[in-house]
Amino acid sequence: SVYPQLLDGKALAQRIQDQLKAEVERLKSTYGRPPGLAVLMVGDHPASAAYVRNKERACTKVGIASFGQHFPADVSQSEIEQTIDRLNQDPNVDGILLQLPVPAHLNAVYLLHKIDPDKDVDGLHPLNLGRLLRGERGLQSCTPAGVMRLLREYRIDLKGKNAVVVGRSILVGKPIALMLLEADATVTIAHSRTKNLAELTRQADILIAAVGRPNLITADQVKPNAIVIDVGINRVIDAQGKSRLVGDVDFDAVREMSQFITPVPGGVGPMTVTMLLQNTVFSYTRTHS
Ligand code: NDP
Repeated sequence: SVYPQLLDGKALAQRIQDQLKAEVERLKSTYGRPPGLAVLMVGDHPASAAYVRNKERACTKVGIASFGQHFPADVSQSEIEQTIDRLNQDPNVDGILLQLPVPAHLNAVYLLHKIDPDKDVDGLHPLNLGRLLRGERGLQSCTPAGVMRLLREYRIDLKGKNAVVVGRSILVGKPIALMLLEADATVTIAHSRTKNLAELTRQADILIAAVGRPNLITADQVKPNAIVIDVGINRVIDAQGKSRLVGDVDFDAVREMSQFITPVPGGVGPMTVTMLLQNTVFSYTRTHS
C-alpha cells in the first residue's frame, strides 16, 4: 500500500500508562502514598468538562490519586488563589493543573503564577517556560512533550530538518517550536498573519498543525514524504449528519503523500493525557529523591 505509517499515539500512550501503573504501585509500597494530582476547573464549559473527566479517569487507571476541585463560574479570584495555596502546601499533592480557559473575570496568568513551579504539571509557570527556553530540564507542557515523545518513539530524525509549526499559542505552538529547536531542527513558526502559508508548509519535512481549523492543511500544502503532526481537535458534523472529531489536516488526502501522520482522534490527544500522568509521577519522585 502507498499508505504511510500512522503515528499511533493511542497505542504508545497505552504502553506508557502500563509502565506508569507499575511504577506508581512500586512508589506506593516504598513511600506509603500514591502520587496525587489536583485538577482545578471553573464553570461548565462542556469541552473542558470532558477533558477534566478524561484526565481524572486516566489518573484512576494508573493509580494516581485525584484531588479535583470544581468551582462555579462566578467563583472569586481569591477563592481559587487560596485553594492553590493550600494545594501548594499539601504533601499529598504532587501536581496542580488549572483547566483553561477560565471565565473572563479571573486573571488566569496570575493564577498560573501562583502554582508552585515544582507542582506545575502543565508546564505553564514562567519558571518552567524559562527553563524550556534555556533548554534546561523542567516540567514541560503536556501536548508538546507528547508530540516529541511520539516522534522519538518512531525514531524520526529531526537534526537539520525543516520543521514548520502552524500556531503560536503559549500552550502548544510556542513550546513545540522550542522543543524542535532544542532537537536541532530548523524551525519556522506560522500564525494567522503569516503570508503565503502554503509556500512555507510545502518546505516542511516536519509539519505541525496546532490551529483549531478543520481542513486548514490540504494535500497541496504538504511536501511529499513529510511527517505530519495534527494537534488540532475540531468537532464537525459529517455528511451523515453525525458529530465527529477531526484535526486541522485533511487527513484522507494528506495521508497518501506523507511518510508519517497522526490520526485524530488517536494521535496527539492520548499522548497529552499520558504526559500529564508522567509529569505528576516525575514531580513525586523528585520530592522523594
Ligand atoms: P489557540 O486558539 O490558542 O491558537 C491557535 C493558533 O493558530 C494561533 O497562534 C493563531 O494565530 C493560529 N491561527 C489561527 N488561524 C490561523 C490560520 N488561518 N492560519 C495560520 N494560523 C492560524 O489554540 P491552541 O494552541 O490552544 O490549540 C490549537 C488546537 O489544538 C485546537 O484545535 C485545540 O483544540 C487543539 N489542542 C489539542 C490538544 C491535544 O491534546 N491534542 C491539546 C491542546 C489543544 P494568532 O496567534 O495570530 O491568532
